[in-house]
Amino acid sequence: MKVGVPRESGAGERRVAVTPDAVKPLTAAGVTVLVEKDAGAGAFHFDAAYASAGATVVPDAASLWRDADAVLKIQPPGPNGPGGRPEVESLREGQILVCLLRPLSNLDLVRDLVARKVTSFSMDAIPRTTRAQRMDALSSMATAAGYKAVLMAAVSAPRFFPMFVTAAGTLAPSRVLVIGAGVAGLQAIATARRLGAVVEGYDIRPAVKEEVESLGATFVGPKLSAEEAQDAQGYAKALTPEARAAAQELLRARIPHADVIVTTARVPGLPAPRLISADDVSRMKPGSVIVDLAADMGGNCELTEPGHETVKHGVTIHGPVRLAASLPIHASQMYARNITSFFLLMVKNGALNLDWNDDIVRDTCVTYDGAVKHAPTRERLDAGSAAGAPTRARMDRP
Ligand code: NAD
Repeated sequence: MKVGVPRESGAGERRVAVTPDAVKPLTAAGVTVLVEKDAGAGAFHFDAAYASAGATVVPDAASLWRDADAVLKIQPPGPNGPGGRPEVESLREGQILVCLLRPLSNLDLVRDLVARKVTSFSMDAIPRTTRAQRMDALSSMATAAGYKAVLMAAVSAPRFFPMFVTAAGTLAPSRVLVIGAGVAGLQAIATARRLGAVVEGYDIRPAVKEEVESLGATFVGPKLSAEEAQDAQGYAKALTPEARAAAQELLRARIPHADVIVTTARVPGLPAPRLISADDVSRMKPGSVIVDLAADMGGNCELTEPGHETVKHGVTIHGPVRLAASLPIHASQMYARNITSFFLLMVKNGALNLDWNDDIVRDTCVTYDGAVKHAPTRERLDAGSAAGAPTRARMDRP
């Protein structure tokens, strides 16, 4: 079997799905690895390193997509494929595609994959189970984004993060409020603490209190039971209107005290919760900074402009949409480990071996043999056709 690693074609994308180090486990499993010329250059992995690791460097995208039995990528197929045509048009019946497909946000693409009978898997649908931990690309990318968000805030802020005692007086440390203490939020808390800031972590899930405190931050959160705040998978649930109002009041009281806010709150299946209103921004101190890591899902702050930096009421608001790509070496290293671990679940004696009894393979599959296998995506597509209008899909994971 031949696996193809294309050069990512999306703007600003510097990661590569398979690094030279990750070629070896694939070849050891009897898989031939094809890598498009310069595929790893954005992450400082050059063609010679792939060749030494045992991969074959292919000179152009058209040959790569044609010769590969399975294409391993980061981004979903985009508009700039071989021959200036959309990448999805290079995929054929029975060919395998593995990437961060975000099927619920890309329903048209899913329809194309169905029509072409492509076997597709989405790395953002990997179950969050102990067995699948080494394949958990969402956690890998959230780790990179949470860390970088704090650095972005520190560079943008007009003040120091740590306390300084100088001959010119004592300078107070920055106060950082991290909203949403999931994987990205906890990494943001740890990074802000390392830089010497005084940190508060806010979340609606009481389960994270201990983790926030173990990082040296103060936990702020409404008094909710685990059942009210989170679902069986441990993700946050949409709150009742009363609970939401109480939680919002608590958060509003903390916002004016923060010099920096890093906000990461998401609820699977829904647009990002709006937690910082324009009025809240107007009550922040001039010179404060917000980094909104939920920008790609509509943003936690009402004034966030996805993909841009803006200044409102003297507050700088960043809405980065692909922050993990700005750390291409380590983000690629983690993703390569995630995707090769996943892919090797489906390889036996160098050939494809799809085991539908394996929950990781089953739950991660989006399309197979002309049908949608991924239940949440199927439901979203059915709901769209029943309504007779395109769905406004905003969800990135089941
Ligand atoms: P996420 O990206 O879905 O959400 C980020 C955070 O936002 C979460 O902590 C969530 O509680 C919070 N949030 C949502 N709505 C909010 C609101 N209105 N106000 C404040 N905060 C709000 O979450 P994630 O980081 O992907 O992970 C979430 C859960 O999954 C955690 O319980 C985590 O421990 C678990 N997880 C498990 C594994 C595993 O077992 N392998 C791996 C990764 C994550």
